[in-house]
Amino acid sequence: MNYTADEGWHQSRIVPYQPITLDPAAKVFHYGQTVFEGLKAYKTADGRVQVFRPDANMRRMNLSNDRMSMPEIPTDLVLDAIKGLTHIDQDWIPDGEGNSLYIRPFIIATEALLGVQPSQAYTFMIIMSPVGAYYPEGINPVKIFVESHYVRAMIGGVGEAKTAGNYAAGLKAQDAAKEQGYTQVLWLDGAEHKYIEEVGSMNVFFKIDGTVYTPSLNGSILDGITRNSVIQLLRHWQVPVVERQLSIEEIYEAGKNGKLEEAFGTGTAAVISPVGELNWLGVKLVINGGATGGLSEKLYNNLTGIQYGKLEDEFNWMVE
Ligand code: PMP
Repeated sequence: MNYTADEGWHQSRIVPYQPITLDPAAKVFHYGQTVFEGLKAYKTADGRVQVFRPDANMRRMNLSNDRMSMPEIPTDLVLDAIKGLTHIDQDWIPDGEGNSLYIRPFIIATEALLGVQPSQAYTFMIIMSPVGAYYPEGINPVKIFVESHYVRAMIGGVGEAKTAGNYAAGLKAQDAAKEQGYTQVLWLDGAEHKYIEEVGSMNVFFKIDGTVYTPSLNGSILDGITRNSVIQLLRHWQVPVVERQLSIEEIYEAGKNGKLEEAFGTGTAAVISPVGELNWLGVKLVINGGATGGLSEKLYNNLTGIQYGKLEDEFNWMVE
């Protein structure tokens, strides 16, 4: 689907997957005016295909678009497109739990003009790919490196938008962490390197003394849809949840005092990812003996149970 200032959104169509042609001066190549989303469709045991909270992804996409000076996308049209595309061929999603269809809507600035102003032309696309189980051998804790040199985002910047540059900015630190045997980077705030923000593609939660804490949405972290779903589930279960500024020092302190019960990341890819170890300035903090915590497991089982249609969808999250 294309956009021009004169015509608005037009030319929506489905075409076979293929390379596209862009002018070398297209603004997306030079000034990074682009936004993407990521969501998944799941197949239930009785063969139904259902998408997890696509309306929330579209809301977030339009917030990102606004931050990046890009036009609003007509939500209903895109939701219809997602529903239509996921139902073209049910066999796109292999049978069996763990398999899903990853859906990647994205928008790029296509105007061929090197001046630094918002583009007057855009293309919006949806591509999809089947993905296998994130945990083929059962849910497994990850080791995370706490980054204290590089930063990913600043308050007032574009951290809360799902835009390409945020991810490019994280690659160098991510590579260095991987070389040291860590799966992901935990970002701290850009001003003081003190407050916890998020992991590369996950929000984070810490269970301390019976209460679950997660960094509040401060404008520099992504408003994760799994994060929001986890908060709703915990409140429903009457588990106390607090969204507030959380310093890395207090997490280490809670670990030292034996009050840090478990930690986990949340995101579309893994759903729930237990954290078994942190490394901050060379000091390792092993959480829950490096094993998956009970709450992480319960959340994982409930969310995937809803996604695969095995548990009742009490929150009306699934869209067929
Ligand atoms: N933070 C970042 C930076 C991400 O890229 C993602 C993945 N979209 C998340 C958090 C988790 O968001 P969600 O639960 O919507 O996948």
